[in-house]
Amino acid sequence: MAEDCIFCSIVSGEIPGRIVAETDHAVAFLDANPLAPGHTLVVPKQHYGRLSDVPGDEAAELFDAVHELSAAVEDAVDADAVSIGINDGEAAGQEIPHTHVHLVPRFDGDGGGSFHTISPASESPTDEELDEIAATIRGD
Ligand code: AMP
Ligand code: ZN
Repeated sequence: MAEDCIFCSIVSGEIPGRIVAETDHAVAFLDANPLAPGHTLVVPKQHYGRLSDVPGDEAAELFDAVHELSAAVEDAVDADAVSIGINDGEAAGQEIPHTHVHLVPRFDGDGGGSFHTISPASESPTDEELDEIAATIRGD
């Protein structure tokens, strides 16, 4: 548990949270300032800052919970879809430094955007540039 971490405090029960699911290593609760009714956060119980800090088995459990909850959250508020995402790092908009997955119910015509609206489009890369980035990610 990290000191002064609001999500650690919710996990430990020190501050109240509207818990909607719990597994050995993950907890899901309603976002206190929801973008839409049913906006849910899924967090590892341990304090990890970034997704890459989470051990693989705990990350798998985290995403199992996301998988289970996606339909439950959508159905609970009679939504048409769900946006699922992580603001992974400050530059991506992460404000609470305890990694968490957002499930935001979406409704036909709600005026919100897709994942493609959260970042300015980059200049079209050449095939060579795409090949080089792919090779670097693979670790060639
Ligand atoms: P992020 O910008 O990805 O770090 O998102 C942090 C989220 O945590 C925001 O959607 C906040 O509304 C939410 N939040 C902040 N404090 C609380 C709290 N006490 N309980 C539930 N959600 C919270
Ligand atoms: Zn924490």
